[in-house]
Amino acid sequence: MQTFDITIVGGGHAGIEAAHIAAQFGVSVAIITMPGIGLGSAPCNPSVGGVGKGQVVRELDALGGLMGILADKAGIQFRTLNDSKGFAVQSTRVQIDKDLYSQRAEELIANIPNISVIREKVLEIKPSEDNFEITTSKRSYRTKKIIMTVGTFLNGKLHTGSSQTLGGRVDCEPSRGLQTLFSDIKTLPLRFKTGTPPRIDKKTIDYTKLDEQPSDSTVRNFHCLHDPFTRLSEQVSCFLARTNHETMGIIRANKEKSPMFNGQIKGVGARYCPSIEDKAYRYPDKNVHHVFIEPEGLKLDTMYPSGISSSLPADVQLEYVRSIEGLEKAEILVYGYAVEYDVIDTTELKITLEHNQIPNLYFAGQVNGTSGYEEAAGQGFIAGANATLALLGLDPLILSRHESYIGVMIEDLTSNTRDEPYRLFTARSENRLFIREDNSIQRMFPYRSQLLLNTTLDIYQKIFLHDFEELLDFCDETMIPEYSPLILEFSGEGDLQKLSRRMSVTEILKQAWLNPISTLERVLGYHGVVVPLDLIRTVAISKKYDGYIKNSQVQHEKLKKMDGMKIDWQNISSSKNISFECRQRVTRIKPETFGQLKLIEGIRPATLAVVAAKAL
Ligand SMILES: Cc1cc2nc3c(=O)[nH]c(=O)nc-3n(C[C@H](O)[C@H](O)[C@H](O)COP(=O)(O)OP(=O)(O)OC[C@H]3O[C@@H](n4cnc5c(N)ncnc54)[C@H](O)[C@@H]3O)c2cc1C
Repeated sequence: MQTFDITIVGGGHAGIEAAHIAAQFGVSVAIITMPGIGLGSAPCNPSVGGVGKGQVVRELDALGGLMGILADKAGIQFRTLNDSKGFAVQSTRVQIDKDLYSQRAEELIANIPNISVIREKVLEIKPSEDNFEITTSKRSYRTKKIIMTVGTFLNGKLHTGSSQTLGGRVDCEPSRGLQTLFSDIKTLPLRFKTGTPPRIDKKTIDYTKLDEQPSDSTVRNFHCLHDPFTRLSEQVSCFLARTNHETMGIIRANKEKSPMFNGQIKGVGARYCPSIEDKAYRYPDKNVHHVFIEPEGLKLDTMYPSGISSSLPADVQLEYVRSIEGLEKAEILVYGYAVEYDVIDTTELKITLEHNQIPNLYFAGQVNGTSGYEEAAGQGFIAGANATLALLGLDPLILSRHESYIGVMIEDLTSNTRDEPYRLFTARSENRLFIREDNSIQRMFPYRSQLLLNTTLDIYQKIFLHDFEELLDFCDETMIPEYSPLILEFSGEGDLQKLSRRMSVTEILKQAWLNPISTLERVLGYHGVVVPLDLIRTVAISKKYDGYIKNSQVQHEKLKKMDGMKIDWQNISSSKNISFECRQRVTRIKPETFGQLKLIEGIRPATLAVVAAKAL
């Protein structure tokens, strides 16, 4: 019987990250994954990154993960989301060619000699004294550690209208239930659900009626060792369409045919990834919703209409799609559907993602109740690293929530029983001014160093951080005299924005009306100092937020001491500064103290910060 140190069940986004990091330590790794599905395949939105998620991809990249490398190689349109907002919440989003992404993943993994990719379906796993026996559709294997990354496949069921089939995604069979794979592991009593929109034939769209969104050449690639602005694939545009009165009318008129609303689907969907039915029935007065029409690949015939995922019957999908301007003659090549699946109770997991009751068994990805490729990849990395570190008798890798979104996600997952799919967004962090995309290397370097891998990545990061410190010192130490033309140039409008004295570069960068990046670029140009744009960006933003970050650390310390403080839940329920979700949850639970408020599932750190700031 073939034996491995680490076996990963599932070759999705969580699985390939787990395998890749484990293999870097030289242990023997197997990915056992169902035949017919490529490694790192994207069953839904063909994109990587986005708000909160772009930060995860850069964190992963700095830790030595795969996702940033693959997204750059397969990236066909680059954008910065939230670019009109503060730097902390700006995120990179890359449209990917989904076939190319999976092909690159296959090539990369195939080039790692100590990873075996086994295309078989796992049917049963038996723990024995110090290892597991895995039985697949063809044979059995032994392994010391297992990482389960089975996505939406556990007892998966697909719905399009009244038609129901068993499967993990379209054209794929389901995986058996966890209780049959193992003998004594529980899943959550409730099931989760996700959905995907119909795919449209790209030749049947009238693009002249849509708003074009070209790729932005100023967005940096994800992988820090790639040249930041050299694209590795051909660039194409995405397009913006809108639903209208007629579209939403068709969906509302067919409510009884919607499996989500006629009782056929019992699973709970992601609040922040609503289907078009959710939007139609929950917001009856709103008819105009954005629909981003995105290519699925350079050579693929399909366009992905982001924002209209649906499990309505096929004829209704075609009717509402054709009511959208520009899509009047659209042909649907694959109809939208919803998938229901089992997830595990993540409070049964340690912060290393190892199961509490069954040592050496780890879980990562959508099977943990999360939604999204980036969330899956982040967990895959942590599970893969920790399974290997444990095997080698080394300290575990535990990312603090104050330094990373991956840390936020894993702490949230392991401390609360989920009642809906978990998605990352920036408000989940109480420290979001610090955990930004631009400073991912600074934040992740201590964790990466802990792995003692000493690759080109580590050398690059050391040099980058050395240069970062030098540039910070330059900003503190370089004084711009009051007679310098720069002082005049940086003065804004009116007396309050007049710079009339000698100032350090650091002081200048903090002025509210100045864009810190272009300001620092100008100062460096004036002094003849040549520095890469990446470095300028991270130093400029770090300086700009310096004071706020220190305040937020102080705030965090205060929050910890405030648990007994009385609060008025009615005030919170009516506050405009608090999200709808948090107000809903507060109204339901009616917490009396700050400590109680903190424990409510779904209450965001940003809400706690608002309540705390009012109370102090
Ligand atoms: C229909 C649909 C819609 C989605 N919509 C969205 C969305 O709108 N937004 C979003 O962010 N995310 C969406 N997702 C989720 C996204 O696909 C996942 O978050 C992500 O792929 C999870 O990665 P993973 O590695 O956990 O699992 P997956 O990528 O699903 O990989 C699981 C792997 O496990 C393998 N596997 C399962 N069981 C077995 C077994 N018994 N033996 C061997 N191999 C097995 C499968 O073959 C598969 O390769 C959607 C997913 C689906 C299916």
